[in-house]
Amino acid sequence: MKTAIIVGITGQDGAYLSKLLLENGYKVVGVTRNILEPNFTNLNYLGIQSEIEMIEIANSESDRIESILRKYKPNEIYNLGAQSSVGYSFVDPINTVSYNIMSVLHWLEGIKKLQLDTRFYQASSSEMFGNVRSTDLPLTESLIFHPASPYGVSKAAAHWLTVNYREANAVFSSCGILFNHESTLRGPNYVVKKIINAAVKIKLGINNQPIFVGNTAIKRDWGYAPKYVEAMWKILQHEKADDFLICSGNVMSLTDLIGMVMGQLDLDVEEHIKVDPKLFRPIDLEVIYGDNTKAKSLLNWKYSISNEQLIATLINDEYHFIEWESSQKIK
Ligand code: NAP
Repeated sequence: MKTAIIVGITGQDGAYLSKLLLENGYKVVGVTRNILEPNFTNLNYLGIQSEIEMIEIANSESDRIESILRKYKPNEIYNLGAQSSVGYSFVDPINTVSYNIMSVLHWLEGIKKLQLDTRFYQASSSEMFGNVRSTDLPLTESLIFHPASPYGVSKAAAHWLTVNYREANAVFSSCGILFNHESTLRGPNYVVKKIINAAVKIKLGINNQPIFVGNTAIKRDWGYAPKYVEAMWKILQHEKADDFLICSGNVMSLTDLIGMVMGQLDLDVEEHIKVDPKLFRPIDLEVIYGDNTKAKSLLNWKYSISNEQLIATLINDEYHFIEWESSQKIK
């Protein structure tokens, strides 16, 4: 039986990845920063919390990480734990940058020091590329980073540390450079989850508040999270450590996404959606989308969900999630 450690297991990707690894016969060890007040909503929703051994690492201390590595000798580590909000990284750049970089370094250094065969996955992000020229689109793995947020800077540094441990220390360390991927398990403040959750609740008659959004002119490459975690796993099964861009290749503005959500739910955009200038970021990526050819050909990763199908699936999943949430309150 293979053992995998998932750092940041309570988040969206951690939950879907746990489910996938459990289905593939892994022992899954989950890392959270606070075991006394954990947020197990995502793991509970997927019905897998009891199958996971949870451990706490509060501040990414190297001694604690080394003792965990010694104890479990994991075959694979998926490092998904991060302050993952671009917007919030402008509010708290110091903690974002220090956690997002140092946590990666502690794990890589531990693997190197103990000379383990552990395969390490780092959650890199399309935000590392920053505001690219239109001639650079669609983005590929070879484009140079020019991040436009403290979050993007932190992810770029963590990315290059992962590459450096691979090249300088022969650690099997790979990066998945993931573009925006969504699901009903996304944090409630992330724009797609926020819009779909509020719109479905309007439809169900349990919300009558307007939905506030920021800059809707941005264009993004959006995908479906449960399919993206398959790519994470495939990256660590590949014969050699490498970096892969994981995206849908589809591009859509937030204005069009809102139109599609409201259209599929038969709701009026003007009536329910309001722009709030306070939600604009100091600097935003205007348009970004990628080329997933490398992942599809080398990893045999399959992704063929159109934007319309993605929105229909997210709406359907949101209905289930809201129903499940209210059943939990009744219990
Ligand atoms: P998520 O839902 O925010 O989960 C990340 C986990 O990290 C949380 O469950 C939390 O676990 C821990 N965490 C939260 N805030 C933290 C903080 N301030 N400092 C340290 N740890 C914190 O993220 P996700 O959407 O699953 O994404 C997984 C990884 O992929 C992240 O590293 C993210 O940056 C990256 N990524 C995501 C996307 C996307 O579109 N979702 C795209 C590209 C890259 P505990 O509270 O239990 O410790």
